[in-house]
Amino acid sequence: MENTKVILKSGKDMSVRRFHPWVFSGAIKKIKGEVEEGDLVDVYDNKDEYLGTGHYQDGSIAVRLITFTEEKIDQEFWNTRIQAAFQYRKSLGFINNNTTNTYRLVFAEGDMLPGLIIDHYNGTLVLQAHSIGMHKSLDYIAEALKSVYKEDLSAIYDKSVDTLPKQYASNITAGYIYGAPKNKYSIENNCKFIVDWQEGQKTGFFIDQRDSRALLAKYASGKKVLNTFCYSGGFSIYASKAGAALVHSVDSSKRAIELTNKNYELNEISIGHEAFASDTFDFFKNSTEQYDIIILDPPAFAKHQKVKHNAVMGYKRLNAEAISRIQKGGILFTFSCSQVIDNKLFYNTVMSAAIQAGRKARVMHKLGQPSDHPVNIFHPEGEYLKGLVLYID
Ligand code: SAH
Repeated sequence: MENTKVILKSGKDMSVRRFHPWVFSGAIKKIKGEVEEGDLVDVYDNKDEYLGTGHYQDGSIAVRLITFTEEKIDQEFWNTRIQAAFQYRKSLGFINNNTTNTYRLVFAEGDMLPGLIIDHYNGTLVLQAHSIGMHKSLDYIAEALKSVYKEDLSAIYDKSVDTLPKQYASNITAGYIYGAPKNKYSIENNCKFIVDWQEGQKTGFFIDQRDSRALLAKYASGKKVLNTFCYSGGFSIYASKAGAALVHSVDSSKRAIELTNKNYELNEISIGHEAFASDTFDFFKNSTEQYDIIILDPPAFAKHQKVKHNAVMGYKRLNAEAISRIQKGGILFTFSCSQVIDNKLFYNTVMSAAIQAGRKARVMHKLGQPSDHPVNIFHPEGEYLKGLVLYID
């Protein structure tokens, strides 16, 4: 069956020619024939030249391109794409690695698979489709994953119900689409973590902070550390294992605090840690303690442009509060995962927080997302995580 043709308006083909994988609805001149959400469509310029093939969906991003070459989207296509993602992680050293078996296998546009996220947790793959087309391709994707991992794959868990448009998601459920998990925990830089993909947030763990957690470990020995927005205790475990004198973990989710405590047990650390189920702002309000190191890793305060101003105010207030709680010579690890807040805006926001706190600060490190979350150079929107490490005088 032929794919439906999508014809672009004159001049609206330039970004696709530069391999940007999105076609906005406003760029479309006409759609020749019937199209349903999730269908494969072929995109042409207004002179009938082929540009690419992708998944159609109602909304501002109308087509997410999965290829710029006229080719069949068959099992072989999916095998090749998944193999390429696997090969890249292999070159980064993640495959057959006993000290880190927690990594992102597919990072959407960064792996030329817009709308698809797949994380690997010690033999179990947790998948989230963010587009209907990707979800409809699930059988192909599962086959490709099995052929790439072979006996090293225990299970594939589909958690797309959380990430797809509501109406479509109301007809699907989360669950295993292959096998059953064999391992009780996942390993990252020799730290063990229970990853609860069923009940936990996102795919179950925040893999994107691996490198920043490793950096914290370098400075944590003997220190009094506060890890806010701790989720399952990623930064806390690294700090404790590195010899921190005391670690306080804070998260507003009770479930997250339970996970943090379980992860301490799993790593056999029984002293020097306390976890608090509390809003971070309330925690600061209710205590006067000072720390050597504070980590701020809040959820995205701004999910879209409209709320950017409020988000900036939120980041400023949070950072100012944290900076004022750091002893002279202490360190702040501060992050933002809001895609709409760019590096410059984040930097300026943290700077105004330091001004508000009346403290001098030096930038020790500028941080970002790790190499298993690659940014497609033609799709700068893929860059979302930024961090600053400040030495507070
Ligand atoms: N640093 C974590 C990931 C943080 S994700 C890691 O390394 O794994 C953001 C976390 O912030 C979530 O666990 C969420 O429950 C928590 N959270 C959201 N709003 C909060 C608030 N106002 N106060 C404290 N925690 C909050």
